[in-house]
Amino acid sequence: MSIQEAQVSRADFDQVMVPNYAPAGFVPVRGLGSRLWDQSGRELIDLSGGIAVNSLGHCHPALVEALTTQANKLWHVSNVFTNEPALRLARKLTDATFADRVFFSNSGAEANEAALKLARRVAHDRFGDDKYEIISALNSFHGRTVFTVNVGGQPKYSEGFGPRPAGISHVKFNDLAAIEAMMSERTCAVILEPIQGESGVLPADQAYLEGVRALCTKYNALLIFDEVQSGMGRSGKLFAHQVYGVIPDVLTTAKSLGGGFPISAMLTTEEYAKHLAVGTHGTTFGGNPLACAVGEAVLDIINTPDVLAGVVEKGEYLRQRLRELGAPHDLFELVRGKGLLVGAVMSPAYKDQAAALMAAAEREGLLVLVAGPNVIRLAPSLVIEKADLDEGLARFERAIASFVAQHAPA
Ligand SMILES: *Cc1c(COP(=O)(O)O)cnc(C)c1O
Repeated sequence: MSIQEAQVSRADFDQVMVPNYAPAGFVPVRGLGSRLWDQSGRELIDLSGGIAVNSLGHCHPALVEALTTQANKLWHVSNVFTNEPALRLARKLTDATFADRVFFSNSGAEANEAALKLARRVAHDRFGDDKYEIISALNSFHGRTVFTVNVGGQPKYSEGFGPRPAGISHVKFNDLAAIEAMMSERTCAVILEPIQGESGVLPADQAYLEGVRALCTKYNALLIFDEVQSGMGRSGKLFAHQVYGVIPDVLTTAKSLGGGFPISAMLTTEEYAKHLAVGTHGTTFGGNPLACAVGEAVLDIINTPDVLAGVVEKGEYLRQRLRELGAPHDLFELVRGKGLLVGAVMSPAYKDQAAALMAAAEREGLLVLVAGPNVIRLAPSLVIEKADLDEGLARFERAIASFVAQHAPA
């Protein structure tokens, strides 16, 4: 027998953790599929998917198998060597996309950091020192490093951390005229989320993405699609830009790629990849064998017609049911999204009360997310069982009833 494990509880958080998060009042200890259990044994339906990360639910047997098999073989060798899982996953990602080359890292922010550094480097090598401007969208989210938080278009995340990196501008999302007015020969990159995730599950318009693609080509600027949240099957295609048929020069993905194991990737073409020559960029854990073995298992399952068709079908069902649940109370102004990335926008009568509805859901044993103050976000497992989805919706219906009872406008 091992020595007894120390008892810990949610209260410890407030003593030992940096207070940058405000976690829920319970501590999850076990998950299986789309269900979670907390320390007290309470069961919850999980439609939050670890914030669009647990793409195959909790403890999917194929991922457990991939991880444990690799854990008994090789954990880490550094980038002084390459390794088989990384090479296999890179081959599968390039086979499935426009890209020829892959750089692995550990988080979405790092993949974006690599993409932005690549764009600056390409512009520097090909056009000289004056081409360094990056254009991104207002309300976008690209990560929390100093560079990516400033590229992101939400000042509340970037203020108060000292001088800002230069050469970054923001324009209104889905406004082609605005970005056209901002672009010039000095622009080295445009970075966009094809579906803005954190700021409310807001899909780009078709004509906008097509127009931005043409502008980037015209100005020799790299088009970077941040698919950290929208990628890996969540939209119903492997990547959301494939829904639009608009091809970027650089693609980043993370969250769902590891199904819960930290991994991210930056993908690009041969033409641009060559600018990150030996020594120009790196990260200790990027391409780690454990992470890549899991990523390969995730990709093998998600990138199949059955699973992707299931995402489309369940996404449509989920949006339809949410509209039906909200209708009697005039709760949602609209329900939007693609595939299983779904946003329900609160109606004016319940403006900015998404967090209160999320709390009501938790009291009914259901995990959902918010995306900003006014949007309920759902990002369930891409292989969620219909029965779990229906049980989650039944709990949400009860949550709506209790929320409306407390918050109904006079
Ligand atoms: C979550 C997210 C990121 C940041 O990913 P981390 O793994 O938290 O660094 C970047 N871009 C988008 C679109 C995201 O949703």
